[in-house]
Amino acid sequence: DGPRVAIVGRPNVGKSTLFNRLVGRRRAIVDDTPGVTRDVREAPAQLGDLAFTLLDTAGWETAGGEALEARMRRFTERAIDTAEVVLFLIDARAGVLPLDEAFAGWLRKRAGKVILVANKCEGRAGQQGLAEAHGLGLGEPIPFSAEHGEGLSDLHEALARYI
Ligand code: GDP
Ligand code: MG
Repeated sequence: DGPRVAIVGRPNVGKSTLFNRLVGRRRAIVDDTPGVTRDVREAPAQLGDLAFTLLDTAGWETAGGEALEARMRRFTERAIDTAEVVLFLIDARAGVLPLDEAFAGWLRKRAGKVILVANKCEGRAGQQGLAEAHGLGLGEPIPFSAEHGEGLSDLHEALARYI
């Protein structure tokens, strides 16, 4: 299946949109799994010449029980432990929020495998958030638009350093 790449970030930043874009037409295989609630969706994905297994860590958003932040932390740490590379998404239009800071704090311990992606950067509305993202301590953010497919070559370049 190739190296594992996990997508993390708070709800609504565009994780599933990125997942679907990189998984492409094969996403149907994932979405059609009937009646099964899974913590992590995973599927083979491709970006240019890079083939990998992509994980969308969306499950914690809807799972009940524990408090949101505890779930976020558990899923994030599992992603760090089980994936070669972690794509940490923020919503550049919303800017850096306290929840993003929390994720960044957990991820900084393993910053060597984290790629910071400033999503929703199409047009100009993301410029402020992109600038704020530099302050997360996870290196240079990649300006990106999962919805419009912008930033894919920069993402490829970053991923190719790890896988
Ligand atoms: P998730 O909760 O992190 O999985 O986020 P989703 O992938 O479900 O996306 C949340 C919302 O953001 C949806 O309405 C998407 O259409 C929107 N979205 C995702 N990517 C982009 C993007 O690149 N630009 C803009 N403007 N909206 C986006
Ligand atoms: Mg999602």
